[in-house]
Amino acid sequence: VTDLEYDAQSDTERNDAGRIYYEENEPQIVMGSYMFEPEYEVDEQVLAEPEAEVLLIDQKLDKEYLPISGNAEFCKESIKLAIGDDNPALAEGRNVTVQGISGTGALRIGSTFLSKFFPGPKNVWLPAPTWGNHVPIFKHVNMDIQHYRYYDPKTSGFDFSGAMEDISKIPEGSLIMLHACAHNPTGVDPKAEHWDEMSKVIKARKLLPFFDMAYQGFASGDIAKDAYAVRKFLDDGHKICLSQSFSKNMGLYGERAGAFSIICHDKDEAARVMSQVKILIRPLYSNPPLHGSRIVATILTNPELRTIWEADVKGMADRIISMRDKLQANLAKEGSVRNWSHITEQIGMFCFTGMTPPQVEKLTKEFSIYLTKDGRISVAGIATTNVEYLAHAMHQVTK
Ligand code: PLP
Repeated sequence: VTDLEYDAQSDTERNDAGRIYYEENEPQIVMGSYMFEPEYEVDEQVLAEPEAEVLLIDQKLDKEYLPISGNAEFCKESIKLAIGDDNPALAEGRNVTVQGISGTGALRIGSTFLSKFFPGPKNVWLPAPTWGNHVPIFKHVNMDIQHYRYYDPKTSGFDFSGAMEDISKIPEGSLIMLHACAHNPTGVDPKAEHWDEMSKVIKARKLLPFFDMAYQGFASGDIAKDAYAVRKFLDDGHKICLSQSFSKNMGLYGERAGAFSIICHDKDEAARVMSQVKILIRPLYSNPPLHGSRIVATILTNPELRTIWEADVKGMADRIISMRDKLQANLAKEGSVRNWSHITEQIGMFCFTGMTPPQVEKLTKEFSIYLTKDGRISVAGIATTNVEYLAHAMHQVTK
């Protein structure tokens, strides 16, 4: 496929939001930040994000520009969330953290910085497959795209041996992109012991790991657990790049709240890197948006709201897990004899169902269910009200 077709397939706004919806007579089912609409049958509950906004409104704050690097409190809290409050990199002042225009903008800052200053080969090694937008993000800065094996279609799981073999052959000093957790689009993550081995080979090859963390909390429901890979790599002595997004885990899609970090060798290097990153940001967009960063900082620094938020995230992750169970059970009820065990083995927001493009087309044409051609569905778009219909349709097109 050409780049354009690739984009059209997997990278439209609709697909990024991962919606599944029905046409005409059926109700539109939109997921994502609307996950707690009554149709999802979640008990009435206090949510951290609207509560934080009320607190902010009460303070009658101004709308001044932020500094080039963004909201300092937001940056401090974001990096703490990813690497842990007690990570020595923080005490040693080795982190450069700036606010980006959400996760995508953070990746753009990172790719632009690396295209200019990274001493290694001008290419980036991405998992196959990866989030569709990774490709144009690195192409825009004239970096060549390479892939290492990641997803095994035979098992609908992680191709650990293939990944290790490919990574061990990546030219020394290259850049490698890793999804920190809840891999998009496959929903397939390495286990802790896989990460440990990958860290070793990445170190041996002197590669620079760039973690994309767009779903912290979505994989396991536990913020710290989902940061395992990032923290392990730092413990192993890697210098890392990191993009973070609060779109999904705080439902802040349109607020564009995200961060880009580089964990440097020492404080002096961090100061030099920060200065160069600011030089890049200033002519790009001058300074990032204010409101979303205030919401994030409020939630993360207010102990009560933080507890509520952590419960929100766990609620979302648990609901997704229960929908996976229901989809699998309903497929069995429909009489499907296919092996659907990957539905519950995969984690996070997305499920790579293994359905082929013709099957996907049939699902859309005959059942008005919309998903990406690669067979990826957003599990967050499944609800008790549509799971039977979805299972029925999936069985009809795959039997
Ligand atoms: N990275 C991955 C893997 C994603 O799936 C997404 C969103 O879908 C992003 C980054 C960036 O999202 P945003 O720019 O909304 O924060």
